Amino acid sequence: AEATVAIIGRPNVGKSTLFNRLVGKKLALVDDTPGVTRDRRMGDAKLGDLRFRVIDTAGLEEADPASLEGRMRQQTENAIREADAIMFVIDARSGLTPLDKHFAEVVRRMERPVILVANKAEGRAAEPGLYEAFELGFGDPIPLSAEHGEGMSNLYDALREAI
Ligand code: GDP
Ligand code: MG
Repeated sequence: AEATVAIIGRPNVGKSTLFNRLVGKKLALVDDTPGVTRDRRMGDAKLGDLRFRVIDTAGLEEADPASLEGRMRQQTENAIREADAIMFVIDARSGLTPLDKHFAEVVRRMERPVILVANKAEGRAAEPGLYEAFELGFGDPIPLSAEHGEGMSNLYDALREAI
């Protein structure tokens, strides 16, 4: 059977942009506003000669910040349970936030192979973020620009190892 890969990370790091690039259609809604309602989506991904199922996560509609974290965690855990491997995405431009670290702990507990993706890595603004990302303990980050399609061959190599 085809492997399933979940795209995990806090809002606004570029998960849906990556999903769209892998699936090749605008199935996932990309939005500048964190917290916009977005359902989890599944698609058939194609990267070189690799074929796999990919899950995009988000789906935040709760205005109450007290329950937001719990909802994100629940959705993340559900996606990871279905997945053979995880692409954990951070924003290399903003560097690590407490929320990134929170998601990283959820991912770590689920015991799946993790590919660490440092997105928005086009240009030099991303360099400090790449260094920070290494501290998560998921190995070397793969610098990627989901928007511009840069770094996809390194992502391919990592996926080939993981799935
Ligand atoms: P999600 O909330 O993690 O699904 O993030 P989105 O895919 O909705 O993207 C959030 C914002 O980041 C949007 O404005 C995207 O256009 C932007 N974005 C996504 N990928 C990149 C990238 O590679 N470089 C830059 N500079 N911006 C990006
Ligand atoms: Mg999204």
